[in-house]
Amino acid sequence: MPSKPCLAVWFRSDLRCHDNRALSRAAEQANAQNLPLIAFYIATPKQWLEHDVSALQVDFILRHLPILQTQLARYQIPFRVWVCDDFSQVPELLLEQCQNWNIQQLFANREYPVNEIQRDQRVARTLESTSIETHFFDDFTLLAPGSVRTGQGDPYKVFTPFKKQCFKQLQEADIAEAPTARIEAEAPSHFAQSPPESLADFAPHLDTKTLEHLWPAGESAALERLETFAEHRLHHYQQRRDYPNAKGTSAISAYLAIGSLSPRAAMRAATRANQGEWTSGSEGAQTWISELLWRDFYQHILTAFPRVSRGRAFQPHTENIVWRDDPEAFQAWCEGRTGIPIVDAAMRQLLQTGWMHNRLRMVTAMFLSKNLLIDWRRGEQYFRRQLIDGELGANNGGWQWAASTGTDAAPYFRIFNPVTQGQRFDKDGAFIRHYVPELKDLPNKYLHEPWTHPDADQLDYPQPIVDLKLSRQRAIEVFRQASEHS
Ligand SMILES: Cc1cc2nc3c(=O)[nH]c(=O)nc-3n(C[C@H](O)[C@H](O)[C@H](O)COP(=O)(O)OP(=O)(O)OC[C@H]3O[C@@H](n4cnc5c(N)ncnc54)[C@H](O)[C@@H]3O)c2cc1C
Repeated sequence: MPSKPCLAVWFRSDLRCHDNRALSRAAEQANAQNLPLIAFYIATPKQWLEHDVSALQVDFILRHLPILQTQLARYQIPFRVWVCDDFSQVPELLLEQCQNWNIQQLFANREYPVNEIQRDQRVARTLESTSIETHFFDDFTLLAPGSVRTGQGDPYKVFTPFKKQCFKQLQEADIAEAPTARIEAEAPSHFAQSPPESLADFAPHLDTKTLEHLWPAGESAALERLETFAEHRLHHYQQRRDYPNAKGTSAISAYLAIGSLSPRAAMRAATRANQGEWTSGSEGAQTWISELLWRDFYQHILTAFPRVSRGRAFQPHTENIVWRDDPEAFQAWCEGRTGIPIVDAAMRQLLQTGWMHNRLRMVTAMFLSKNLLIDWRRGEQYFRRQLIDGELGANNGGWQWAASTGTDAAPYFRIFNPVTQGQRFDKDGAFIRHYVPELKDLPNKYLHEPWTHPDADQLDYPQPIVDLKLSRQRAIEVFRQASEHS
């Protein structure tokens, strides 16, 4: 055992050095006590599978780790990665490592899904029973989950009043950058390691070159993306955000999901570009800030209503809905061959890039849960398995919204018509033509409804797998019955 005690930071969904509250406080404490600071990440491959973490996100995390290690070295903080199967093994692993390295205090930022909360509770109990202190911080959101309450002290269930309350609290909140100091005391040099061999065992086999181009790893890449957006696109966000071919959104979600970007940095960039304002100034900035608060909202929902982490509907009466079991239709939806061009283009965007435009997430989710009447949980799981930005709160919130089972859920009778959505948001068809090249020579008149083309049967493209009008009526009827029996 090294004779000198030390402090440690456990990185989880906060893979960055800048503006990281746990790291900042740990560094401050280490210097105050003249103790070394070490840092680590625990890879849990079985847990990732159980939580349906996509191969792309696993790859993204793994690509971040060596970058994080290099960044931390500049602060004289050695970093290593430990591997265990799943969360159940984490407390024991930590206890053993704390004893190996004489770790006296452990610092980490909170994660809010129910399994992560329980893991942390077990870790705290195990370590504290041997007098190792644990310190957890709220860092993943702008305002700490649980801290935004109605006048009656209840959690908000609807976004708009939640947002209004957030704006009040943000006036007083600390969203300044949490600085990290260089550590004065010398760290145990043998703690640092080159990325362990064992990581290669479960690294997914992916076309890393394409992924590195689409999703470059590291906090500098994340900050650069944020700054470029704030400088050039933020003020046009309101006009362009709904058009999948317009590149009108920030594409920072993958970085926020694994924490290589802090939400406070996103908020500061937006307010800086908007003369320090969040409720006035440019419409683009206000709308984008509102989206950041949607992200917060769904994290607050996770902690206030743990049932949503357990696959339960937020609106209990919607548990009565009898979903259809249709494996072929589900597969066609997954693979982007439903015969509805905008749905297929979106699903292929997801398959090819690991990301899907927000408007199309709503369109495809509604198509699955309403037109196909397939359980939203199947779609939620499929998205999670494909998305590079997969994150329980936002994914669950988005799916439950689309399926009319959630917080601000779309009323069940308001069902998007995917053809109209395509005509409206991909008017010239450029997005469809890119992802569904079978239709690239089709005149605009037929592009969104290729089945109306006189030679439709000669196209190398399927007929719609469902009648949009009849399936819409079927969904309304099923949802109406469920709400009547509630
Ligand atoms: C069915 C469905 C599933 C979704 N699954 C996820 C998911 O797994 N992970 C995820 O991060 N987002 C998810 N979203 C929300 C949203 O689609 C993405 O956050 C957004 O498309 C990311 O692109 P962007 O970074 O360019 O967003 P921008 O439009 O630039 O917005 C900035 C940031 O605000 C947050 N944000 C924006 N819209 C939402 C929203 N509706 N809900 C919560 N946060 C939001 C994101 O962190 C985003 O990066 C889902 C939405 C739906 C309808």
